[in-house]
Amino acid sequence: METDKMTYLIDATHAPAARSWIHSANVDGCEFPIQNLPFCVFTADAVSTAIGVGIGDRVLNLRAAAEAGLLNVDPAVSRAAVASNLNLLMSLDEGRSNSLRHALFKLLLADSPGRDIVASAVPPMLRPIDEVVFHLPCRIGGYTDFLTSRHHTERHGRFKGLKDPLPPAFMSLPIAYNGRVSSMRVSGTDVVRPHGQFKDAAGRVVYGPAVAMDFELEMGAFVRKGNELTRPVPVEDASGHLFGLSLFNDWSAKDIQWWEQVLGPFLGKSFMTSLSPWIVTMEALAPFRVSAASRAADDPELLPHLRAASDQQAGAFDIEMEAWISSNGMRDSGQAETRLTLTNLRNLYWTFAQMLSHHTSNGCNLEAGDFLGSGTASGAEPGSEGCLTEITSAGTRPVRISASGEERRWLEDGDEIIFRACARRPGFVPIGFGECRGRLLPAQSDRA
Ligand code: MN
Repeated sequence: METDKMTYLIDATHAPAARSWIHSANVDGCEFPIQNLPFCVFTADAVSTAIGVGIGDRVLNLRAAAEAGLLNVDPAVSRAAVASNLNLLMSLDEGRSNSLRHALFKLLLADSPGRDIVASAVPPMLRPIDEVVFHLPCRIGGYTDFLTSRHHTERHGRFKGLKDPLPPAFMSLPIAYNGRVSSMRVSGTDVVRPHGQFKDAAGRVVYGPAVAMDFELEMGAFVRKGNELTRPVPVEDASGHLFGLSLFNDWSAKDIQWWEQVLGPFLGKSFMTSLSPWIVTMEALAPFRVSAASRAADDPELLPHLRAASDQQAGAFDIEMEAWISSNGMRDSGQAETRLTLTNLRNLYWTFAQMLSHHTSNGCNLEAGDFLGSGTASGAEPGSEGCLTEITSAGTRPVRISASGEERRWLEDGDEIIFRACARRPGFVPIGFGECRGRLLPAQSDRA
């Protein structure tokens, strides 16, 4: 694969035959084989918070591994590895974080000389994933959510009765709004049904618990190196400013959003956003790059600040994304979760490199740890809609969610939404993204 800067190469860490001495990493269907090595931030046994690396059903304590001298990396990478969040690692260039990937790969590879030290460490250097507490992976300074699925945008435009469902700028630039950082929470945190102002079924403007509660299935990119104020990042350099991808749920109260939205979404989104604890790095994703979405002959010309041969050739990612639901009733009667959506990140009209470059094109500075959301990643086909608004035609056509016949127009109290994702390509080991999960609790006034 050729890119302008030859940034993300397929190398020995992607070899399909590579196996780890941690056996759970070698099981078919494991989300975290040795070819993945996603990062997180976690606490175990209420001891100190550290960066973790997912391997099989375990998380490796990166600080402990670095302090034990098990990682052959330069001092700048060592300092980043012992930090308690990922900001420092994100501030380094891609060559440095790739050196960490290679050191981790060696340590976890079958027959690694460090194996016995890791396995016998006290306190344990490896913990079962389901026994640790996760945190947001870094200090997020800015959160921008884009709107890059044409299918999602057109369906919403039609529900709102717009004459032209696609905003005129949609195909000329990646549209976005500035989101809220303070209410971002790690997967597993309950979300409380918000109060807000909206038009009720009778068309009256009221204030109360939102009715049109929705999830939005999205992928977000963490920014690696920042850029200085006034210095745009050219699109051909932008992939070098992306650290990795995480699943996230842009919970939305569509009734609040549609009434308030003049300058953009505000209280309809800012009550909470759920992030997966896991960041799958750009290095791990190298085999899953695909060409950018093709543009129709009558689409507006791609202007030079959004056009680079490398990005057009390999700026998109082939990643399956799923949304699942489980209700109080389903859990009480022992029914399994139901899949609501199967879509693919390829459905985006814009690449993350274009989003990042466009974001900085007026000189706006991004910082390591900033978060860029893809927007709801809906596809064209039925079954690939990335939110309930699309699935139920804005609440007018209920969707059946369980074998016992439960239906939804909008999310109800107790509903849990689970996102999963997987990157696949023939000849490579598939890699997963972990879960992004959250349960909707009743509005505050409705609780005892
Ligand atoms: Mn969104």
